[in-house]
Amino acid sequence: MKVLIVGGGGREHALAWKCAQSPRVSEVLVAPGNAGTDTESRVRNVDIAATDVPRLLELARREAVALTIIGPEAPLVAGIVDAFQGAGLRCFGPSRLAARLEASKAFSKDFLQRHGIPTAAYRSFTRENYDRAWLRAQRAPIVVKASGLAAGKGVIIAQSLSEAEAAAADMFSGRFGDAGAEIVIEQFLQGEEASFIVMADGEQVLPLATSQDHKRLQDGDAGPNTGGMGAYSPAPVVTSAIHARVMREIIAPTIRGLAHDGMPYTGFLYAGLMIGPDGTPTVLEFNCRFGDPETQPILARLRSDLTSLCEAALDASLDRVEAQWDQRAALGVVLAAAGYPDAVRSGDSIEGLESAARRPGKVFHAGTRRVAGRVVTSGGRVLCAVGLGDRVSDAQREAYALVDCIHYEGMQFRRDIGYQAIARELADDATPQGDATHHGDATHHGGHG
Ligand code: AMP
Repeated sequence: MKVLIVGGGGREHALAWKCAQSPRVSEVLVAPGNAGTDTESRVRNVDIAATDVPRLLELARREAVALTIIGPEAPLVAGIVDAFQGAGLRCFGPSRLAARLEASKAFSKDFLQRHGIPTAAYRSFTRENYDRAWLRAQRAPIVVKASGLAAGKGVIIAQSLSEAEAAAADMFSGRFGDAGAEIVIEQFLQGEEASFIVMADGEQVLPLATSQDHKRLQDGDAGPNTGGMGAYSPAPVVTSAIHARVMREIIAPTIRGLAHDGMPYTGFLYAGLMIGPDGTPTVLEFNCRFGDPETQPILARLRSDLTSLCEAALDASLDRVEAQWDQRAALGVVLAAAGYPDAVRSGDSIEGLESAARRPGKVFHAGTRRVAGRVVTSGGRVLCAVGLGDRVSDAQREAYALVDCIHYEGMQFRRDIGYQAIARELADDATPQGDATHHGDATHHGGHG
């Protein structure tokens, strides 16, 4: 069968690479893809933008595509799944209505509150009903978020109330366009973050391997927020006990609540969590798609056929499948372009991809383009080098060995991806019995949402 992957970043390279490994798949089309998908065997780029729904529909029909998987949020929020399904085509992702969980933070906070799912205390405001006196009576630090899609940049952790007021004013004045027409102001939460990603079929869920990403640009979580500078899987902060709590207290009531509210959720569902010092998981945000860069290390560990899992979800039978994982850890280091995350420079020539390809591990492309036989940068996040190893520290070593092969002008990356997990490994080494409580992602069965 033919599979179509919509999108052109690192996540989509990983999705295409994984689907192309399936014995059931004759060809994977990627729209628009990048220089990495372009060189995978059995993968073909098609020059159609991820948001051009009419042309994507026409492509899927013409090529008799049996399964379409949507990578980024923009086409989901625009209703691509509704359009494909309306045309009788199999398309894995949430409907436009369900995708509001990501498209509107105000909507998603109201949803969480209505269904008693743990999330930071909040209020949302439009320019018209903004209550400055209320904000002045709060305590800093406090978090100000543009409600709409702002590519991970619309969140300000204000260290003082005057900074929070300035952030709110900035958002209302149109800094994030329509995304800031409504804002959410919420309590600042302490703890360690984790990404909890599941596949859902409307009723049942199949949890994927746990992961953690690094949003800040610089080592030690300093510098501005980015789309993500690296990620690894599994995330030892999610112990078996916390995993069970997340499924019971967050994922199950979310899937049930969405079905109850008339927008059953099918697709990848990403819960960004804060794990409190006492192990209590709280929802920071939902994304209506697989994470980037989490997809790259997670799929590097997936042993099962991804196309079969997606098809099981589309057949509402996720409870009948299981996901098998490589027991090794995987760790991905993002290589970003000069100027990222602000004024990104493109067109820098990338050297060393061939020598990286001879090493163990895998370099996934994101913002890359082929120009006159050379691969050049063409976006903020350029590559993601993924290593595997028995422990996170081994995976990290393999990933940085790949990074050391690669060079381009202005290349930026963090040297400390995985540091929290590696600190835990070192602490475990120091304890006589080690630590048997980490959630190993052995096999996940589908189960009731
Ligand atoms: P979001 O897009 O809502 O996940 O926010 C982006 C990042 O801001 C998160 O990954 C956290 O690092 C941080 N963040 C968001 N909300 C909070 C919060 N309530 N408390 C602490 N940090 C937060």
